[in-house]
Amino acid sequence: MKEDLLQKAYDPDTFREVGKQLVDELSEYLKETLSGSGQVLNYQDPQEQLDLWKKALSGDTPGLETGNILKHITRVHHPRYMGHQVAPPLPVASLMALLGGFLNNGMAVYEMGMAPTAMERVVTDWLCHKLGYGTSSRGILTSGGTLANLTALLSARRNTALEDVWNQGYSGGLAILVSEAAHYCVDRAARIMGLGEDGVLKVPVLEDFSMDTSKLPGIYQAARQKGLTPFALVGSAPCTATGSYDNLEALADFAGENNLWFHVDGAHGGPAVLSEKYKFLVEGIQRADSVVIDGHKMMGMPVITTALLFSDGATSYNTFSQEAEYLLADTVEEDWSNGAKRTFECTKLTSSLSWYAVLTHYGETIFEEYLDRQYDLARTFADLIRERAHWEVACEPQSNILCFRWVPLGMPSARLDKINENIRKKALEEGRFYIVQTRLKGTIYLRTSLMNPFTDKDHLSELLTYLETLGKANLADEEALTETEIP
Ligand SMILES: *Cc1c(COP(=O)(O)O)cnc(C)c1O
Repeated sequence: MKEDLLQKAYDPDTFREVGKQLVDELSEYLKETLSGSGQVLNYQDPQEQLDLWKKALSGDTPGLETGNILKHITRVHHPRYMGHQVAPPLPVASLMALLGGFLNNGMAVYEMGMAPTAMERVVTDWLCHKLGYGTSSRGILTSGGTLANLTALLSARRNTALEDVWNQGYSGGLAILVSEAAHYCVDRAARIMGLGEDGVLKVPVLEDFSMDTSKLPGIYQAARQKGLTPFALVGSAPCTATGSYDNLEALADFAGENNLWFHVDGAHGGPAVLSEKYKFLVEGIQRADSVVIDGHKMMGMPVITTALLFSDGATSYNTFSQEAEYLLADTVEEDWSNGAKRTFECTKLTSSLSWYAVLTHYGETIFEEYLDRQYDLARTFADLIRERAHWEVACEPQSNILCFRWVPLGMPSARLDKINENIRKKALEEGRFYIVQTRLKGTIYLRTSLMNPFTDKDHLSELLTYLETLGKANLADEEALTETEIP
């Protein structure tokens, strides 16, 4: 009977038992994975996984047992996990995500999440302070860097463009300036806003993949002559593929001279503001009108935890408001506690719990320690690569992201691409390490983001030796296939 089923589903004793078991299993997983034993992943193709979980639903095969899920995921806690820019979350932050999912406060209005709303204010005020923003700054937490960048650009258009697109619709002619190496979501955001391809003015990059700011005036002038009105300039701190930081001071100067909204996409490396050693990379960030920082990248948060910070809080209130009633609705007080007025989402995650918990447990130094360690490690890795014959880096690492490739002698470039692609493919299938690949100016590179605080120099040496073995095996296979062509 239905009622019995609901009784059973909400039974507190069952919850206690299952919950304790889950935490026990995850603790064992953490111990084993952090120690570096086992694979990072056991790769299966999507169809195989689909068949498996279809079958499991029918109850014929193992299903939702934790152990069975753990067999079919990528272990970000593993020191040989070096792939995408996702943090091995700090365990206390993960517990807060569990708590948030359990309490399910919706956050759109204050009383649907009183504590997390106040914590969000504490956390975003702290981040604003760390950016070097003044007291009129204000931030929000939202669901991911992608949505945060879109929100920032909507604010930019609302606050700098002469047209009132939000109320009157778009009649064309607006544009943004952004580096060609920026994350694809900036381009996507602009297209969602109706700017189209012409509305995204891509600025070329230098050898180190940072924006070539000397090109800004020419691109800007050419756009004006075509009848376009640029309204925002986006800096990457850093860009995703190579982790290279744009020169934010130069961007801030240009934005100031031309009345552009200056937005910094610091999704990955914005937290460098917390590091004495590396804050030089983000010099000028305090001059940005808005900044995005992903918690789930360099701040040890579970997915998905993102801060969007405004140097002038008032500019964040009119982004989604139909009328200009933003700041002083019925009272003289600023309405910071009703989150949905300023976020794209209505209901959203109580992600401030995780951030607040980490600050409470370990203080802000944990973020600095983590970032310094990972950024240092990328420099060590670049040295290791240079010490080996037939390896090269795409550019010097500025963050904890590094692109590199194997370059055996006497190979034409198309063949090098193929070999490096095969190396990455084989590595994925074997699952001993997890790395990714990217294409930079037409060339295929292997790519690592050193996210795990337990990855060390030995793992990186081992990685290079391993990849070289895969490369040589690949060459041997090719030679066996085309024996007659080999001199
Ligand atoms: C990861 C990343 C994004 C996208 O953020 P999500 O949280 O994945 O939506 C945007 N910009 C940069 C520079 C990034 O590294």
